[in-house]
Amino acid sequence: MAHPLAPYAAHPEQSRGRRHAEAEPSDGRSAYQRDRDRVIHSTAFRRLEYKTQVFVNHEGDLYRTRLTHSLEVGQVARSIARQLHLDEDLVEAISLAHDLGHTPFGHAGQDALNAAMAEHGGFEHNIQSLRVVDVLEQRYGDFPGLNLTFETREGILKHCSRNRAAKLGDVGERFLKGEQASLEAQITNLADEIAYNNHDIDDGLRAGLLDLTELCEQTMFGPIYREVSQRYPHASANVLRHEAGRRLINLLITDLVQHTRARIEAAGIGSVAEIRQHGEPLAAHSPEMSRAIRTLKAYLLHNLYRHPRVHRQAEKAKRTVQQIFSLLYDDPRLLPRKYQARLLSTDGDLRRRARVVADYIAGMTDRFAIAEYERLFNPRAGA
Ligand code: MG
Repeated sequence: MAHPLAPYAAHPEQSRGRRHAEAEPSDGRSAYQRDRDRVIHSTAFRRLEYKTQVFVNHEGDLYRTRLTHSLEVGQVARSIARQLHLDEDLVEAISLAHDLGHTPFGHAGQDALNAAMAEHGGFEHNIQSLRVVDVLEQRYGDFPGLNLTFETREGILKHCSRNRAAKLGDVGERFLKGEQASLEAQITNLADEIAYNNHDIDDGLRAGLLDLTELCEQTMFGPIYREVSQRYPHASANVLRHEAGRRLINLLITDLVQHTRARIEAAGIGSVAEIRQHGEPLAAHSPEMSRAIRTLKAYLLHNLYRHPRVHRQAEKAKRTVQQIFSLLYDDPRLLPRKYQARLLSTDGDLRRRARVVADYIAGMTDRFAIAEYERLFNPRAGA
C-alpha cells in the first residue's frame, strides 16, 4: 500500500496544467502518469537507445546508452521519491524525458553544436529537451509536442541562464524570480548525478579505462570495495564491482533521503509553495557526502571523461557534427524534405535556418550521424 503524498509533494490534481487546454480522461491515470506514458511513446525516447552517454554507441553493447541511463535515473529517483512520500510518477516522467534533447555523441556533440550555433542563439540540451516535448514531437491532432504538464516541463529545464529564461514563458519564471522547482524536480536532478557517477565507474572499469587500485585509493569507492572484497573473498571481479556499485547507490540514496528530510523538518516546510519559495534547493546530500561526491567527480573527469581514448572519439564526434552543420547550413537543399518544408516558413532568416539544421542534427542517433556524414562527404556512399 502506497503512502499518502507528503503535504509538500506535487499533487497531480493541483497541477498548473498543460500548455494547451485538454480534458484529462478519467481512465485512472494521474496527469503525471499520462506525462510518463507520452514520453515513453515518443520518437525521441526510442532514439535514446542509440545515443551515447560516454562511449560511442557502437563501441560495445554492454555500455550505458542514454536510454539505459534514463531508466536508471528513473529507478533511483523513484526510490528516493517513495521514501520522501513524493509523487513517483512525476519523478519518473522527468527522468525519462530529461535527456531527450541530447545530441548524438554525448557532450562532445553538444559542445560542437553549441559552438556552431554561437551566432544563432547557441544550443543547450536542457532547452532542447523542452523543445522536443513542447514542439518537435508531432503525434497528436490537437496540439504540437507532447503537451506535458507544467511540473514535468519545469523538471526537464533543470538549469537555464536568465537571458534564456526570459524567453521560455512559465517554466522560465523561477530563474528570474530566484524560486525553486518542485522537490520532485530537485531530487530527479540529484538522481541523475547518482546514476551517472555510478554507471560511469562501472563502464569505465569494464572498459579498462579506469584503474581499480587508483580509484579505490582516491575515492569513496575504496572503503566500499574493500568491504565487499572481505565479505566475498572468492567472488569474481565482476561480482565485486556490482556488489560495490549497488552499495554505492544505496549509500548515496540513503544520505540524500535522510539529509533532505532533516532539512525539510528544520525549515518547517508544509507545502509546495514553501518548497518553491525557499532560498535554496531543499534536496541535498550531507556536507560530508557532497565533498566525497566532488572528489569522485573530479576523479572521473580526469581519468575517464578526459582519457585519451575517450578524447580521441570525442574529437572525431565534434568534427562530424561541426562539418555536417556547416554543410547543411550553407546549402539547406541537402536537408531531408521534411526539414526543407520548415525552411520555407523561415523567410530567409538565417537564425531560424540555423535552428532548423540544429534540430535535425540534435535528433540524430550516433549511428545515423555517422551514416549521414558518409552520405554527405563520401562520393562512394549513396545519397
Ligand atoms: Mg542525464
